[in-house]
Amino acid sequence: MLILNRREVTQLLSMSTCITLMEQALASLSRGEVMLPLRPVISIPNSPNIFAVMPTYSADLGASAAKLITVYPENHGTALDSHQGMVALFDGTNGSPLAIMDAASITAIRTAAVSAVATKLLARPESRTLAILGAGVQGRSHVDAMLAVRKVERVILWSRTSAHARSLMDDVSAAHDTRFEVAASVEAAVCDADVVCTVTASREPVLEGTWLRPGTHINAVGASIPTARELDTAAVAGARVFVDRRESALNEAGDILIPMKQGVFGPDHIVAEVGEVLIGAHPGRETNDEITLFKSLGLAVEDLACAHYLHGVASEGGVGTRVSI
Ligand code: NDP
Repeated sequence: MLILNRREVTQLLSMSTCITLMEQALASLSRGEVMLPLRPVISIPNSPNIFAVMPTYSADLGASAAKLITVYPENHGTALDSHQGMVALFDGTNGSPLAIMDAASITAIRTAAVSAVATKLLARPESRTLAILGAGVQGRSHVDAMLAVRKVERVILWSRTSAHARSLMDDVSAAHDTRFEVAASVEAAVCDADVVCTVTASREPVLEGTWLRPGTHINAVGASIPTARELDTAAVAGARVFVDRRESALNEAGDILIPMKQGVFGPDHIVAEVGEVLIGAHPGRETNDEITLFKSLGLAVEDLACAHYLHGVASEGGVGTRVSI
């Protein structure tokens, strides 16, 4: 069995490759080739921490996988990531375990790559101004992902702790030849933006619909449980909503479920899965003025697609550690 650590995953999985893998995985999901139960999530008592298990099988890849992941938000700013765990990959034919890989690095790259797929499909092609709300692991990877799919000329960063936004700016400006700035408020960050990514661990809305201009595309990534949301009701009600998977969105996405509980809209407010747009079953954006919103929850099939690819390239290149169990 192969073991891949964080350094090896990062070395082998480029953002551009991962964007292609995520397009294939989301299209396959919407074609009905993936078995994907809802993830069990254990809330650790008296804390904001969770432990989640994310299993899946793909007929297209002939493989199954499960991600075991903890989310300990208070790790942010310490030596440990808020997301830690492993992805276990299994052969779909004979059932043998093939690999165990670092989940933090796969999650960091694949989540931003999925947002890139949605942005490629839904943001106006002429989008030039990007706002990123949140300056943690996902803030960093979303800069790389958005710049891979649009000719961004201006990136506006905002985070609750502005020193973190400044530090992210120092980090990313060395890697990208684009103008970066830090905004003092969320409103200042998003009011001129063509694309907005919300990548905070906030459980209460940080983004208000009244601050958005027509034609904006939003990737709402940070809230993954029914009781948490980053967008206020107006932001979601005023947008055409696309999701990674309908069933997950209607069970896990506070950004959608909380306004639904308020009676503001029903489940048909979800226009389509991104995979349905990829396979041509839905046109995606229809006018220049509409606000499009991609609600990302993160799916096990995304981790499986990465693990399947990584297992192949690591085996060919002799990367990683082989163990017998
Ligand atoms: P990090 O721990 O690295 O960063 C957390 C970020 O959230 C920081 O920028 C922090 O701001 C900000 N933040 C925390 N609490 C609040 C708050 N109350 N109000 C506003 N901002 C806040 O996390 P990641 O970057 O790894 O993940 C970000 C979010 O995305 C998490 O909620 C995570 O669960 C989610 N996620 C979603 C995935 C998906 O597939 N949809 C996959 C992976 C993660 P600061 O430090 O400046 O104070």
